[in-house]
Amino acid sequence: MPARILIVEDEEALSILLKYNLEAEGFDVSASGSAEDAELQIEEELPDLIILDWMLPGLSGIELCRRLRSRKNTKKVPILMLTARGEETERVRGLNTGADDYMVKPFSVPELMARVKALLRRVNPEIVSDILVAGELELHRLTHRVYRAGTPLDLGPTEFRLLEYLMQSPGRVRTRTQMLDAVWGRDIYVEERTVDVHVGRLRKILSKPGDRDPIRTVRGTGYAFDESF
Ligand code: CA
Repeated sequence: MPARILIVEDEEALSILLKYNLEAEGFDVSASGSAEDAELQIEEELPDLIILDWMLPGLSGIELCRRLRSRKNTKKVPILMLTARGEETERVRGLNTGADDYMVKPFSVPELMARVKALLRRVNPEIVSDILVAGELELHRLTHRVYRAGTPLDLGPTEFRLLEYLMQSPGRVRTRTQMLDAVWGRDIYVEERTVDVHVGRLRKILSKPGDRDPIRTVRGTGYAFDESF
């Protein structure tokens, strides 16, 4: 499951450039031209990181940043502010409002990529690494290969995405709805029971009889990747 990034920027050319580069790095990117529209998008689906322009038509980036910081669910989402102004006082103001990092336009795209990854890594180290490792399991994102104790396992695409999603946040309980959204997408209708069927298949592929099961069933809720695995 790639990290979701929301770009809030009214300069269309810059927004397109950022989207293109972030997608090339494998991120799931959406863009918004105003703070008001961004708020709606955030309400619908919480991004893993927000790139936020300071000067926007209507509500300013600073004001949006302040609002996001004051709400429980968006308090901790990393925010990278963009601005055309480089004065030290403005910089300080941006950081005081709660932005995690700050870039002055014009900036280099590779530097922005590096900062985005650094911010994501700070919040969730697994979200940007190419290889997820837990116990005997190793999941290689780029080659879509999974190994248990060095032995390659044969996972279908759905099982691979399920495992990737769970391994990304060890110990965290994921509801069936969250798993459906993350693995199958929001646009198609799939019954919640389908999740159970695929988790069952995944378990069979991951473990031989006698092996430890890395997936924990949370009764009435969903599943979690066993953090002690
Ligand atoms: Ca602007």
